[in-house]
Parts: sequence; structure tokens; C-alpha cells
Amino acid sequence: MEKVKIAVIGAGPAGIATAIEAKANNIEPVVVLEKGESVCNTIVKFYKPGKRVDAYYRKKDIKPIGICSFETESKEEFLQRIEKWIKEWNLDIKLKSEVTNIKKTDQEYEILIKDKPEYLSEFVVIAIGIFGKPNKPSYPIPKELKGKVFLEPPLEIPENKKILVVGGGNTAAEVACALCESNQVFLSYRRPKFFRINEINLKNLEEKEKQGRLKLLMATDIEKIEPYNDRIKVFFKDGKEEIYDLIYYCLGGTTPKNFLKRIGIEFNENGEPLIDEFFETNLPKVFLAGDIALKQGSIMKAFNSAHIVIKRIKEKYLKN
Ligand SMILES: Cc1cc2nc3c(=O)[nH]c(=O)nc-3n(C[C@H](O)[C@H](O)[C@H](O)COP(=O)(O)OP(=O)(O)OC[C@H]3O[C@@H](n4cnc5c(N)ncnc54)[C@H](O)[C@@H]3O)c2cc1C
Repeated sequence: MEKVKIAVIGAGPAGIATAIEAKANNIEPVVVLEKGESVCNTIVKFYKPGKRVDAYYRKKDIKPIGICSFETESKEEFLQRIEKWIKEWNLDIKLKSEVTNIKKTDQEYEILIKDKPEYLSEFVVIAIGIFGKPNKPSYPIPKELKGKVFLEPPLEIPENKKILVVGGGNTAAEVACALCESNQVFLSYRRPKFFRINEINLKNLEEKEKQGRLKLLMATDIEKIEPYNDRIKVFFKDGKEEIYDLIYYCLGGTTPKNFLKRIGIEFNENGEPLIDEFFETNLPKVFLAGDIALKQGSIMKAFNSAHIVIKRIKEKYLKN
């Protein structure tokens, strides 16, 4: 695992500004981990070509307080500005690097990319925005199956159900193992062998299967699912059909809120992540920045939050 001082998750305006502010304060090494194929994924994907990027957004005149700032300009000009900053500040940005988990070790945080531990970092700044979604299967999920079909791991474990887990990564393995303690569980994976999961999860799966707690359905692919007498009928591509009570798809991706919950960040009664005035969460040295930390976010607010986070890290933790 590579050791860094700060791991920034998300290369949107907040993540880029965090890395710039960190470098300007000699807080290094800093790595920015981005799940998309380009930086500023939200802007690239959701802004129309030629869109005006307003510095004065939602009728709020937010004054820049840090290094990063911009004047109203087109989407293309804004993205060029970001590229220029990345070069000028020599930022270390890893694209196609979706962070799937963060785990506390004795001194640092272990950062998992696509379920694999890749970085050890003293500080973590989460700047993942608000637009993330879990990946869906290619076939439709009928709306009658709401409450029976899930695209993310359960936060609470159901009991006495016949459950199909779909996926071949560590998340699918961990979900299947957790569910099989109190349910009848089947794990469907389209390949004949697992190749992405770690040794511990592989061993757990094999043990649970030996104990008869779960059944691995290797090389199975689903064609469609349909409602069936308050349950779910699954049609496999090889012509087989089976009935289940619940399905959990573990195909990667997540909503930002569930991501935060999974790593242990607490929420208040309004469903907002608990952070102090400097954006630090209940996990020491883990901060939020940008839209995920703000009500009615904007680019300038994202830039400013990055400045506040780095100033706080410097003053609270790196005084000497
Ligand atoms: C259509 C539209 C128009 C807008 N127009 C304006 C405007 O004119 N002016 C303005 O100020 N604001 C505007 N906004 C709002 C502005 O885009 C956001 O406030 C700003 O992008 C927030 O920046 P951010 O870095 O917090 O989040 P984002 O820009 O959403 O960036 C988050 C990044 O994190 C990445 N990511 C997510 N999850 C992970 C993960 N697990 N691992 C690694 N990477 C991850 C994403 O791919 C993304 O690149 C607009 C928003 C929309 C949708």
C-alpha cells in the first residue's frame, strides 16, 4: 500500500481545490482518487455543451476565501481552467479509481479502491458530491418489486428469507456471508470462478458453502426478474427459473449517503452527515468537502470548503 498524508476522494471542484490548498501548505503527499474517466465528472456529464458556469449561482454571491476562484465562463473554459490548475500544481490524480471503503487502522486510514486496499493515509477528505448512484443490472426491475430488490448492501439483516445475492466482488461475498447467518442464501456470479475477491472472503464463502449455509451459483447469468405471488421469479439465461423473497445486487457504485454510513460517519435527525464547523466528521481526521457537506452547494462554496478543511488540518493537527 502506498502511504500518503492526505487522500482526497473525488476530483470535482471540491477535491481539486483541496489538493491545491494542501500542496500550497506543504501538506504532502496528497493523492486525489476519482471514480470517473475524467476529472470534474459531474460537470462533464451533467452540464450541456456551452453551458454558462455561474460564479454567482442560485442568487448567492459567495466570495472566494481560498486559492481557487473563477469568473462566470462556459463549461469548456471552466474545464480548461481546472486542467491548467492540475498541471500548474502538479496534482497526483488517479482516474478510474472508485473508493469503495475506508477502514481505520491504528494510526491511519486504509483506502480501498474497487474493494482492494491501495493507500494508507493520515487524513481523508471526502469530496464525492451528491450525484452517485449504485449500478443497476441491464434488465429492468419491475416497480412492483420495490422493497424486495436492493441495489446496495443491507444496513440491517433480514431473517428467514430465501435470498439471491448477485455479484462477484468482495461486497457480494461479504453480503452473502452476513445474510446466510439467518437466511437461506444463494450467490449468483456470471463467471465460473471468482477472480476479484480477497483470500479471506473466498475462504469464508467456501466454508459457509461446506456448512450448507449458502449455495454458490457460478457461471449463472440472469435474463429477467418478475413479481410472483409476493415473491420474485428469476429467469436465468440457461432456461432455469427460481423463486426468491429478496435480491441484493452488489454491482458497485453507491449513493453518497450510504457510502458515508458504511464507513461509519454519523448522521443527525435531519439525515445530514454530522460535521463540525470545519467539516470534520465523527471519525477523527476525516473531513467532508463540497456538495456532500453543504446545503445548496455551488462551485465557489466547494472551493471555499476546501480552504477551510486544509486550514483546519494545519491548525489542529500539524501545528509543530
Ligand atoms: C446541471 C447543473 C448545473 C450547475 N450549474 C452550476 C453553476 O452554474 N455554478 C455553480 O457554482 N454550480 C453549479 N452547479 C452545482 C455544482 O456543479 C456543484 O456544486 C459542484 O460540482 C460541487 O462540487 P463537488 O466537488 O462537491 O462535487 P462534484 O462536482 O459532484 O464532484 C464529485 C466527484 O467525486 C467523484 N466520486 C464520487 N464518488 C466517488 C468515489 N466513491 N470514489 C472516487 N470518486 C468519486 C465523482 O465522479 C465526481 O467527479 C450545477 C449543478 C448541476 C447538476
